[in-house]
Amino acid sequence: MAAIDDLPPLRDVIATHGLAARKSLGQNFLLDLNLTARVARGAGDLSAATVVEVGPGPGGLTRALLALGARHVVAIERDERCLPALAEIAARYPGRLTVVSGDALACNIPALVAAAPGYREGDNVQVVANLPYNVGTALLVQWLETEPWPPWWHGLTLMFQREVAERIVAGPDDDAYGRLGVLAGWRTEASILFDVAASAFTPPPKVTSSVVHLEPRAEPLACDGRLLSRVTAAAFGQRRKMLRASLRSLGVETEPLLEEAGLPPTERAENIPVAGFVALARALAHRLPAGKAVPVD
Ligand code: SAM
Repeated sequence: MAAIDDLPPLRDVIATHGLAARKSLGQNFLLDLNLTARVARGAGDLSAATVVEVGPGPGGLTRALLALGARHVVAIERDERCLPALAEIAARYPGRLTVVSGDALACNIPALVAAAPGYREGDNVQVVANLPYNVGTALLVQWLETEPWPPWWHGLTLMFQREVAERIVAGPDDDAYGRLGVLAGWRTEASILFDVAASAFTPPPKVTSSVVHLEPRAEPLACDGRLLSRVTAAAFGQRRKMLRASLRSLGVETEPLLEEAGLPPTERAENIPVAGFVALARALAHRLPAGKAVPVD
């Protein structure tokens, strides 16, 4: 396949800038630009998009996003060693790449998007990332719980360990169904686009990865996301128990709660669809004293 740009191969970039992968930063780099282009294509037509890339590293995915025509890329990288390599990409695509040095978990990403050159409210905003899975999951939860809804992003295209990807797209009766599946299913349509073998990364991780794509539902069932998190945490905290027992940790009488939610007390969390958890969150809201703050888990 033809080269996607005229910048040096990623292996040379890594050697030139001394970017030996660091385990502490979850660094498993993708060096095949045709593969990074496949990931970037998962985000759809990028020509009018502002793309947020988290963890660009030596820039394989960044280069693909720009080569595929992303209007502007905001790339947030924690490892300062990568900044000179990213500056070379910025020079190759003048005015189209903003590199932010820092921890994505601590960044105000919507503010970075709003400040991106040429950005106008309502523009297509895509988030694309190949991240260490713990950072990726923490960010995904932040992006799913964001208020107001519809959110500031129009699509998330994220690499995860296959096992985490399965939890994100899982529904009732799937072994992988749990809090992440309820949260993702409540507010988004999520699907696994394709798997990426461990051997595609340098160094290779221990497990297969998958690229997941999520798009926001325009009108998810109305409920307080923090209460949804509380009921799913309680229900799946003891997933093999019946709901009348597992929900006791919520500190309210469980049988009337379940009755209001229209759920049989003998059901187990793994069989309850997202709408059932939403009904539980709403019933719980009716039992909290007015104005009482919801503790954050
Ligand atoms: N995107 C590159 C690729 O596909 O080859 C690098 C992927 S590597 C799995 C993860 C990248 O995320 C690394 O460059 C790492 O330094 C960066 N990273 C890790 N934690 C981060 C954080 N909290 N905020 C921003 N970047 C982070």
